Amino acid sequence: MMKSSELFERAKKVAPGGVHSPVRSFASVGGTPVFFEKADGAKMWDVEGKEYIDYCQSFGPLLFGHRHPDIAKVVHETTDLAWSFGAAEPYSLELAEFITSRIPWVEKIRFVNSGTEAVMSALRVARAATGRSKVLKFDGCYHGHLDALLVKAGSGLAGESSSDSAGIDAGMISQTLVLPLNDEKALIELFEKEGKNIACCAIEPLPANYGLLEQRKEFLQKFAQLAKEYGCLLLFDEVISGFRVGFQGMAGELGIEPDLVCYGKILGGGFPVGAYAGRTKYMDLVAPQGPVYQAGTLSANPFGMRAGLAMVSKLWNENPYPQLAERTKKMTQAIVDLLNGNKATNDIEWTASTYGSLFWFHQKTDEPIRTISAIPKGHKERFAKFFHALLKEGVYLAPSGYEVGFLSTAHDDAIIQETIRRCEIALKKL
Ligand SMILES: *Cc1c(COP(=O)(O)O)cnc(C)c1O
Repeated sequence: MMKSSELFERAKKVAPGGVHSPVRSFASVGGTPVFFEKADGAKMWDVEGKEYIDYCQSFGPLLFGHRHPDIAKVVHETTDLAWSFGAAEPYSLELAEFITSRIPWVEKIRFVNSGTEAVMSALRVARAATGRSKVLKFDGCYHGHLDALLVKAGSGLAGESSSDSAGIDAGMISQTLVLPLNDEKALIELFEKEGKNIACCAIEPLPANYGLLEQRKEFLQKFAQLAKEYGCLLLFDEVISGFRVGFQGMAGELGIEPDLVCYGKILGGGFPVGAYAGRTKYMDLVAPQGPVYQAGTLSANPFGMRAGLAMVSKLWNENPYPQLAERTKKMTQAIVDLLNGNKATNDIEWTASTYGSLFWFHQKTDEPIRTISAIPKGHKERFAKFFHALLKEGVYLAPSGYEVGFLSTAHDDAIIQETIRRCEIALKKL
C-alpha cells in the first residue's frame, strides 16, 4: 500500500514543495498532505484507503460533487469524439450561446484555460479599450498569479502597492493601485487623484480567497458608480463566485452590471476552463476581430466545453442554489455550536460566515469581517488545530484558514449528519 508520507517524500524531490499549487502542501496548517486516489460525490479516498467527506471540492469547481453521473456521461462520450482539434468546433459555440443568452452583460465570451489567464487577458482588453495604463485592485482579493495583480497594499500612500511574490519586477506592478476593501473614503480619494488614469477597476464582488469577506452592497455600488464616472472599465472577477452564488454570479445577485467579467472554476465542470467576457464593444477588441492579441493551443478544449455545458445547463435547469444555501447554514451552525460547546475550542466564540454554499469558520467579531485587517489574531493557529482534528475523523477542509469551504449538491442531509457526527467526535478528542 502506498502511504501519503512516503509519496510526499518522493514528491518533494521532483516538485517544489512536493506539490503543483502551494496550498495543497499543508504549509499553512502543518503536517503531511494527504494524497488522494479517487473521489465520488461528496467523498474522497486517500491512497491508504481512508474515506473523507470533502468540503474543498477542488477549491470550488465541483458544484455537483465529484464525478456527477450527468457530467461523467458527457466526459465519456467526449473520449470517443476528440480530445483536441486546435480548430473551430461546435462545442464552445454551444457553451458560449448558452451563457450569452442568459447573462445580459455577457454579449461575447472568449474561453481560456484558467482563471489567471482570463484576468490577465481582461486587463489587456481594458487597457486597449481605454488607452490608459493603471489598474486598481483591493487588498484581500485574489485574481490569479499574473504579475500585475500579485500585489498587496504598500506601506506608504493609499493606492501604493508592493509585490506579493519574489520575481516580480517593480515595473510590472508600477501601474497597479491597491486599496483596502470596505472603505468608501479611500476609494473616493483615489479616484479624485488617479481616476482618469485607471483602465481597469478589478474586484472579486464576493471576496472569497482570504476568508469570506462579504462586502456591503453600498460599497460595491459606489465602486461601480465611480468606475463609470471616471471612464474606467469595471471588471468583476467571478472566477469563484460565478455560477456558485447563482447562475448570474454576484453581478446578478447585486444587480450591478460589470463591463468585463471573468469566470473559471465551475465553468469547466472540473476541467481546466477559464473565460473572459463582456460587452461586444470591448470583446471585439480581441484578436482576430481586433488588435488585442490572445491565443491558446488547448483553449476551448472539447472536454472542458462539453463538461462545462453539462454543468451550466444542469445549474440552469435545476437551480440548486436555495437548497445549497439552506444546507450550508444548517451544517455550519451545528458545527459552530459544537465548537462553542467544547472546552478545547471555546476559549473564543466561533461563528461561520456563509454566502450561498460558501462558508468560513472564524472567531466571532462585533462587526462582520470585511477586510483582511479585521481577521482576528490567532486565526491561522486556531484553524490548524480544528483542521487536523477534523482530518483525523475523515472530514476534509481546504488546508488553510484563509480558504473558504464549499458545499456541493452531493452533500445531502445524510452526509451533513455524518459530518456533524464526525465533527463531534473530533472535538471530543481534542
Ligand atoms: C481561483 C481564482 C483565480 C485563479 O484561477 P486559476 O484557475 O487558479 O488560475 C482568479 N480569481 C479568483 C477570484 C479565483 O477564485
